[in-house]
Amino acid sequence: MQRYKYLIVGGGMSADAAVRGIRELDTEGPIGLVGEESHPPYARPPLSKKLWRGAPLESVWRGTQDLEVTLHAGRRAVGLDTVRREVRDDRGETYGFERLLLATGVTPRRLPFGAEDLVYFRTLDDYRRVRALADEGRRFAVLGGGFIGAELAAALASSGCRVTMLFPEQGIGSRIFPAGLSSSLGDAYRERGVVVWAGETVAAMRRDRSGLVLRTRSGRDVPADAVVAGIGVIPNTELADRADLPVNDGIVVDELLRAGHPDVFAAGDVASFHSVVLGRRMRVEHEDNALATGRQAGRNMAGAAEPYTHLPFFYSDLFDSGYEAVGEVDNRLSTVEHWQEPYRKGVVYYLRDGAVRGVLLWNVWDQVDAARRLIAEPRTWRAAELRERLPERP
Ligand code: NAP
Repeated sequence: MQRYKYLIVGGGMSADAAVRGIRELDTEGPIGLVGEESHPPYARPPLSKKLWRGAPLESVWRGTQDLEVTLHAGRRAVGLDTVRREVRDDRGETYGFERLLLATGVTPRRLPFGAEDLVYFRTLDDYRRVRALADEGRRFAVLGGGFIGAELAAALASSGCRVTMLFPEQGIGSRIFPAGLSSSLGDAYRERGVVVWAGETVAAMRRDRSGLVLRTRSGRDVPADAVVAGIGVIPNTELADRADLPVNDGIVVDELLRAGHPDVFAAGDVASFHSVVLGRRMRVEHEDNALATGRQAGRNMAGAAEPYTHLPFFYSDLFDSGYEAVGEVDNRLSTVEHWQEPYRKGVVYYLRDGAVRGVLLWNVWDQVDAARRLIAEPRTWRAAELRERLPERP
């Protein structure tokens, strides 16, 4: 059995950030990393963004290996004993630890049909598979109108593929965007040749001589050579469950990111943490949170005892538009929209009981910190007051 001062389960961006956090305070303590994928940690956002715009594949690597870490890649952790302080992998090997980080991430939700014909887009290998199909100029069906669906449909259409999007909501990104913005975004996709079927899901899939055929719930047949799905994710909490650590839509952590045990931490997409600024528990599935919780957990594993108080932001690029967003960006809240150019450049404020809970910055840049300050202000606002607030003038 190999023993580590620090053991990290998970091989994603949060795991890499944790290694860096540990190394900020402890340059020598042995670190082991057990990751299910056969690759060392890599940046995930480029898989649906920059790699489609010419960035080289090598740019995704995080360089975790250079930080005195023993990587156990291609190993799935299946057992955790917090009393003996041991983790067991799917080949029966055990790893001892003094401090453990669970950065196990999420697994794509699956559909009851399609099997291997359907790519649930999440990993570098998924990117390679879809990229190879795109380079052959295939016809794609993209299922889901959330983050993956929106980014991949734009990337594939920009690469010259014929794309049909199908999703149950009223419009692209309509869980987060106000209706007008979502509808204008749909128009932008259609102008670029994407066929957008909103309010439509797939009931079955079959293969015929010309390729795949998707049968929709309303009875349409949609032909495609390849089908890519981004229909949401499920947090990987099995290890925590088996070890009786607290789980409730994710692994529940305290302000130091400890998972119900003084020497077990959780970070990244799988961690449910209390947001000091928003006064509520949340689980965030975006890069900034993966990096920030990872680094903080790493520092705390190495003895720092610093609370996690960061309010993470997220971002996306869709054709020639881009946005950054912070806080509760949820169209169930009331919104105040301030467009400098209608649906091209502007700010959307999300309010509950008059207090700003979230901000969407659409083609408006360098305002994330200003938005964080606005959300932290303990007051209520009238719509007219908010229109003057962002972007902040230098
Ligand atoms: P997502 O953003 O939650 O979107 C899932 C979408 O799938 C929703 O539109 C959902 O509609 C739809 N859906 C559900 N069932 C469906 C079905 N049977 N057929 C078609 N559509 C269906 O999740 P995701 O796009 O899969 O992304 C996965 C994770 O990666 C997310 O956690 C996301 O945050 C993260 N990610 C983030 C970024 C970024 O930060 N820029 C980029 C890529 C991925 P309903 O809402 O009606 O259920």
